[in-house]
Amino acid sequence: MKRLFWPLVAVGVLLAAVGVVEARYVFAPLLGLFIWRVGTASFASLHRGASFVPDGPPVAVDPAERITYACAGCGAQVLLLVRGAAVAPRHCGERMAERREVASGA
Ligand SMILES: [Zn+2]
Repeated sequence: MKRLFWPLVAVGVLLAAVGVVEARYVFAPLLGLFIWRVGTASFASLHRGASFVPDGPPVAVDPAERITYACAGCGAQVLLLVRGAAVAPRHCGERMAERREVASGA
C-alpha cells in the first residue's frame, strides 16, 4: 500500500493539472493525510519521551551505598531507598544531580 501512495499522488496531481478532476478533490485528502501524520507523529514523540516510565519492578538500593539526588535550583536533596527507574528524578524543572557514597568497610 505504501508503494502505491506516491504514484497515486502523482496521478492525482496530473489529473488535477490537466483539469479532469477538480484540484480540491486531490489536495483536500492529501492535506487531511498530512494533518493525520503530523498528529500521530507528535503523539509518538510524546510516547518516546516518556523515559520516566519504569522499565520493571522497583529495586531496593544496596544498603552499603547511599545515593542522593540534589536539585541545583533550590538545593533540595532526596535520599534514594528504592530505585524505580534508571533516570534521575526532576525538581524545579531540571534533572537532579546524582551523588553516590559507598560506606567504608570499617
Ligand atoms: Zn528544586
